[in-house]
Order: sequence, then structure tokens, then C-alpha cells
Amino acid sequence: MSATVYARAALGWMRNHWREDMVYAISDERVRPATETEHADQPIYELDAAVLPPLTDAHAHLGLARLPDSGPGSVARVLDLGGAPRVVATLAADAREAACATELHFVGAFLTAPGGYPSDRSWAPASASIPLATPDEAVAAVRGQHAVGAKAIKVTANSMAGPVLSDALLQTIADETHRRGLRLIAHAEGEGQAERAHRHGVDVFAHTPWTHRLDDDTVQQMAANMTWISTLGMHSRGGAEHDLTVALDNLTRFVQHGGTVVYGTDAGNGLDTVMIHQPELDALTDAGVSPADLVHALTAPSLLPRWGATVSLAPSDLSDHNAAWLAHTTPVHASHLKERLR
Ligand SMILES: [Zn+2]
Repeated sequence: MSATVYARAALGWMRNHWREDMVYAISDERVRPATETEHADQPIYELDAAVLPPLTDAHAHLGLARLPDSGPGSVARVLDLGGAPRVVATLAADAREAACATELHFVGAFLTAPGGYPSDRSWAPASASIPLATPDEAVAAVRGQHAVGAKAIKVTANSMAGPVLSDALLQTIADETHRRGLRLIAHAEGEGQAERAHRHGVDVFAHTPWTHRLDDDTVQQMAANMTWISTLGMHSRGGAEHDLTVALDNLTRFVQHGGTVVYGTDAGNGLDTVMIHQPELDALTDAGVSPADLVHALTAPSLLPRWGATVSLAPSDLSDHNAAWLAHTTPVHASHLKERLR
């Protein structure tokens, strides 16, 4: 059990603004804001930095993209959104043991229809897809991902690349996922798939819907109870300007209706390093996300806890609050943060 120490930072990021003289509780495994009462009788060290919650890429594939060795522009946390469960679970455990500056979380495998996306893709190892034909198989698959440490469950409904799960199986997966206190994330692609996924219990889209324009009523209903992971930059990387236009239109209206948007790049898909990626920040800004809401989107609201084993640091003399400075933040693990106190 490691001792908790307390440190004051000149600036700390709250949900949507900086606050001066924030005090944090730091153990070897966790950093979080401290309450007044708990640090009242404690020595308080000084930390010469502005502290943000762990800035997160909520859509990456660690089997296909590499993590840089920390440094400016690196993310403090990654949610792997589909891969071989044993492989990603081992990567996450290794990162935890080594007190890496980037904390890793994962969803495990893609749950899909037999022959469905992405089981036929060259980039997807066989164990990264679990084909489901019956309700029993669906329940067992959710249970299996949860058992290896999945923080959410990922399902695919891609009618442009093979068969898709029935409405009934989607609903079974959603019910079992929710019973376990997890959220269901879908890759929805093809006409009507986003709407169908939403109707049958999907909480989160892995990508802003891009294949079709969603009507206003649908967007409004989705904004009331869904989270969308942005992944706008992947269209520019692939030169798919039309897809970007459709996605931007859908996301702009989703944001206007108060929907929760989370930063994600789909690193591994045309982007081989998991970094804070300026084109993704710029595209979110184009969709009407304010600089303060951009920081919020980078904390993976509704997907992961706000605080964890790492934080992101910015210079304490920070004066510029537009989006560009985000790409220069540096992640630090709790145990290494202790070494910086004076
Ligand atoms: Zn992906």
C-alpha cells in the first residue's frame, strides 16, 4: 500500500474551466483532486504544472498502432476498441506494471454475426472477432470479455461488409452488457444500421455515423442518451471527403442537441501512432465543439472514470486556451508525478 501525498498545482482543469491552486491526492496508482478536509492536516507539496484529467483516445487499436514513449502530444489513456483479447489484456497489464505514462483499457473482441465484419478483414486476427448465432453464445461472449477485463463491450453492425446480427441478438447482447454495468459500443455502417443499433440498446457509436445523413428526429433522440466517438479524421486520411461531410453534418446536429461526444482517432486505421492528433481536434472544432468542450471530450466522459493512474500536464504559465495547446500536453504516471514534487 503506497502512501498518499498531497500537492498543490497553480492550475487544475475542472469540467470546463481552469481553477487556481488545486490540491491533488497522489498515490502510486492514482491521482485525483483532494477534498479540503482530507488534506487539512497534511503537508502539501508544490507541483509546477497545470493538471488535466488523463487525456484519452477512446478509439485506437493497439495491435495496429504503436504508443510513443510519452512526451508532448502523447495521450495519458487509450481505450482499445477491438483486438485479440489476450493480446490487449497483456499489453494493459504490462503498462500497469511498468507504471507507463499511458494507461490502457480495452473492449476485447468484436462481437459479430457469423461471417460478419471484421472477421474477413486482413488486419483483424481470428481471435479478434467472435461470431454469434444464438442468445447463449451472445451472453457467453459478453461474459468472456468482461472476465478478461473489458471496460465496455463492442459489437459490429456493418451491412456493407457481410451479414449482421439480428435485432433480437443485438438486444440480448445489450441486455447482458447492461446487466454487468457496462456500456455497449457499436461499429454501425450501412443504411439503417445506426438507427437499428440505437433502437436495440447500443449506448455508444465507435464512429460518428458517416454512411448516411440521419434525420433530425433521430439525431435528437440519439443525443438524449448516446455517446458518439468522433473519428472524423479517418475520412480525411482516406481521402473520403464526402464521408467527412456527412459525418460532420450528423455530428454538428448531435452536438447542437446536447449529445455527448468523445475524442477518438481510430489509430491503427491509416494512423500508426496514438497521439493527440491535431486534425481530429480541428474537425471537432468544425462540428461546433468549443475549446472547453474539446478538453471534456478528451476525458472520455461516460466511457471511463474521470481520474486514473495518469494525468496530463501542461505548462503552468499557460495563457492560450485555444485547441492547439492540447497537442503539447504531456502524460505522467502517478508514481512519477511524485518525483516532480518539491
Ligand atoms: Zn476502429
